[in-house]
Amino acid sequence: EYILGIETSCDETAAAIIKDGREIASNVVASQIESHKRFGGVVPEIASRHHVEQITLVLEETFEKAGLKMEDIDAVAVTEGPGLVGALLVGVNAAKALAFAHNKPLVGVHHIAGHIYANRLVKEFEFPLLALVVSGGHTELILMEEHGDFNIIGETRDDAAGEAYDKVARTLKLPYPGGPKIDQLAQNGEPVIDFPRAWLEDGSYDFSFSGLKSAVINTLHNAKQRGQEYKNEEIAASFQASVVEVLVEKTYRAANQYGVKQVIVAGGVAANKGLRNAMEAKFKGEATELMFPPISLCTDNAAMIAAAGSIAFNQGHRATWDLNANPGLDLERYARRKK
Ligand code: ATP
Ligand code: MG
Ligand code: FE
Repeated sequence: EYILGIETSCDETAAAIIKDGREIASNVVASQIESHKRFGGVVPEIASRHHVEQITLVLEETFEKAGLKMEDIDAVAVTEGPGLVGALLVGVNAAKALAFAHNKPLVGVHHIAGHIYANRLVKEFEFPLLALVVSGGHTELILMEEHGDFNIIGETRDDAAGEAYDKVARTLKLPYPGGPKIDQLAQNGEPVIDFPRAWLEDGSYDFSFSGLKSAVINTLHNAKQRGQEYKNEEIAASFQASVVEVLVEKTYRAANQYGVKQVIVAGGVAANKGLRNAMEAKFKGEATELMFPPISLCTDNAAMIAAAGSIAFNQGHRATWDLNANPGLDLERYARRKK
């Protein structure tokens, strides 16, 4: 079975072909980071235009690298949401056109289901499974009892983890996207500032990062007034220590409470060195198996969309020709719809 995946929800134009749900035949990502850098973030209109310019080239390269043709494909899987509506539409329309012209089934995929299924390209899932999703727009703890089943047991009440990284990076005047840059700095600094940890109510698996972001801004401001200076490395290390401690601790508690077999980490922030190290230390010697995608599959790509699409396809889910971009697509509603 070959599934073609297409992803255009934000600022990467991506296509991939996955064999039997778990094996990468080809995986092409055209990033637009350079075009958005000077604006300090993703500009939706520019993103849509780049997707239009890139999608055909990216698809051609994907087929060429796999040595396959559209006739070899069993289904076309595409991110239908969430994301930027104009960006999503480019992928959805490309997928519809290809599937229709070649008489192939079409499958709609939730972007976060994709991030989670990036891990299945590494190893087969065992349920129950807990996924920590930490991306640019999402921070969630998701319990899965079976394939295609997503129960959110905790989520951020304000900023997403990746968003907090990007905002703190902007405060330090680092270029977009700031997450990887803060990660680098943190590896060379000491966490000398004791920033707050947002534990919230007892037993809550929710997150909050906006208070931490404000604490960073206030600390920098007050230090400046006192004529004191922190190194960027120290700010980054202290900020990261706070983010990572809360993520790891809540994931560990939830893993124990739900007795899961596997814990997987997904989304752009799963690339973070500090988070990977702290998770590994915490779960060392535990019966629970810990998994991360390779760094290249943490941020947006279409291999993960094809991997999630393969499961949906095999569960019998088919999109109709009126499939539309859904910028606010809800994960649990998506999962129920697929039942
Ligand atoms: P979503 O998936 O929620 O729709 P998105 O697709 O924009 O959002 P991703 O592509 O999954 O997000 O991840 C991008 C985010 O990951 C950015 O916020 C980026 O700063 C962050 N990020 C990437 N690498 C690292 C890293 N090494 N450390 C911390 N953050 C990182
Ligand atoms: Mg991106
Ligand atoms: Fe993403």
